[in-house]
Amino acid sequence: MPEPIEERVELEALPRGERLARMRHSAAHVLAEAMLELMPEAELGIGPPTDTGFYYDFRLPRPLTQEDLAWLRRRMRKSIGRRLPFRMEAITRAEAEERWRDQPFKLDLLAGLEDGAITQCTHGGFTDLCRGGHVNHTGEIPAFKLMSIAGAYWRGDEANPQLQRVYGALFETREELEEHERRLEEARKRDHRRVGRELGLFAFSDDVGPGIPLFLPKGETVRHLMESYVRELQERAGYQHVWTAHLVKGALFERSGHKEHYASAMFPPMRDGETELYLKPMNCPSHMALFNAEQHSYRELPLRYAEFATLYRYEKSGELSGLTRVRALTQDDAHVFCAPEQIGDEFARALALVREALETYGFTEYRVALSLPDAGGGGKFVDDPERWERAVAALRAAMEASGLAYAEEEGEAAFYGPKADFITKDVLGREWQLSTIQVDFIGPGRMGCAYTGEDGREHTPVLLHRAVTGSTERFLGVLIEHFGGAFPLWLAPVQAVIVPIADRHAPYAEAAATTLREAGFRVEVDARAERMNAKIRAAQLQKVPYMLVAGDREAEAGTVSVRVRTGEDLGAMPLANFLARVGRERETRALAP
Ligand SMILES: [Zn+2]
Ligand SMILES: [Zn+2]
Repeated sequence: MPEPIEERVELEALPRGERLARMRHSAAHVLAEAMLELMPEAELGIGPPTDTGFYYDFRLPRPLTQEDLAWLRRRMRKSIGRRLPFRMEAITRAEAEERWRDQPFKLDLLAGLEDGAITQCTHGGFTDLCRGGHVNHTGEIPAFKLMSIAGAYWRGDEANPQLQRVYGALFETREELEEHERRLEEARKRDHRRVGRELGLFAFSDDVGPGIPLFLPKGETVRHLMESYVRELQERAGYQHVWTAHLVKGALFERSGHKEHYASAMFPPMRDGETELYLKPMNCPSHMALFNAEQHSYRELPLRYAEFATLYRYEKSGELSGLTRVRALTQDDAHVFCAPEQIGDEFARALALVREALETYGFTEYRVALSLPDAGGGGKFVDDPERWERAVAALRAAMEASGLAYAEEEGEAAFYGPKADFITKDVLGREWQLSTIQVDFIGPGRMGCAYTGEDGREHTPVLLHRAVTGSTERFLGVLIEHFGGAFPLWLAPVQAVIVPIADRHAPYAEAAATTLREAGFRVEVDARAERMNAKIRAAQLQKVPYMLVAGDREAEAGTVSVRVRTGEDLGAMPLANFLARVGRERETRALAP
């Protein structure tokens, strides 16, 4: 017989996160109860809480509809209104197997549980296999909404049956729920896939293949500007730009260890006789081979190689998503070869560079996760724990000196060395891991990199792997959403549209456009036979920073009437004044006019 487990909780006394998790998970139970009423043949998966609500996975005889969601929600509200207590009980394996004999996923979960650790939870007439973590009764489930239906594989494995996942949002108050919905709506509006299409930035083609983005002229303009900017930063910081090809012999990846540790992320090789050739998934081995192509002395260190390299990574087609998860990506990759005592200094310089770039792009909120080995456990990773510890101390000192907010994550370091990841918050409060700096004690030795030291002997350099934007594609996807497509002037693919009021003003508009183009601005003239307001509206929708109206008065006075995409009207000004204004804005890479 089931044995009751006393589980009275004082919700108010719990930390907010745990309280919400209990409410959310309890709502998942109520959802499963409702689903069994809607479709008694439903097979139940799992129903955990999420950061914003909950979900439950089901195998169902037919696809769910929006009407089903509405029905389920009404049915859930009924259970909630009845304030049904959640009752936890310990049961034996035999009892559990009997109860869920028609529920294959529950039986599968059961198989993974230890005898004596099997519990179930009942509210009303519904019982689920469950570890616990509920509210006291259904009446304690607050404001929620069933949001969407998605496909999910059982245990996340494509080899398993596909289930339907119902997502719910749940917050303690109606206001918080509404705020969440507003944020979702804003995220939908800013979705880079949608904005990318509307602004003509990029496209995907079935003829080319999944996860391989194609950049339209405007998108290529933005990419180019992003790369030029980072190139400028890097040149100022003493980097040298190199170029290495997309194909690399398999033997190099064998030596670097990538074939062993990274094979699942690589496309299968091409063959040239006995030789295997791979599309490179990363640059490090190529840059080390490049380093090895010349003799080096300690006087040349630190030696900083940078490259905008297109890399190919085998992502499962189900995991591809817009520009954020692609199979062809371009990394603003750099490798700094330095002497061990230069690590701290080089790390600090890389930090400063990443910081400047992020701030230029308007990411003012970010934190750094410094991944370190377990305390005193450097030896687990490398044969020279003392050197590792000195490096960790140098990184810490550099972090402290930078004044950046950072958190140390012990035991998270890669096997080859400690690293710093920048986690950036966008305008919607979502976090993205973009930039990274990694210290590598292993790679250079493995690849036979060496320099002649002051003592005349051979030494192995330490390698810093560093990416400012990470992947140009992914960074651009994040940027599009961060700016909602309204790029700052320096980055906008079209910086101004000139709108002649009537046909007779077209020559003046063209002349003004020429003047601006000669000053290096990207300008279009909208000479279509449309009303002026329609043209201004069109340019606003394309998020063009400036609209310049040219009519009789302007043509006579050599002026343009300037509107900002936000709707602000700056009035008429001589073309030269406008040029000076946008010149400054471009020069400083200002985020707003
Ligand atoms: Zn439960
Ligand atoms: Zn690297």
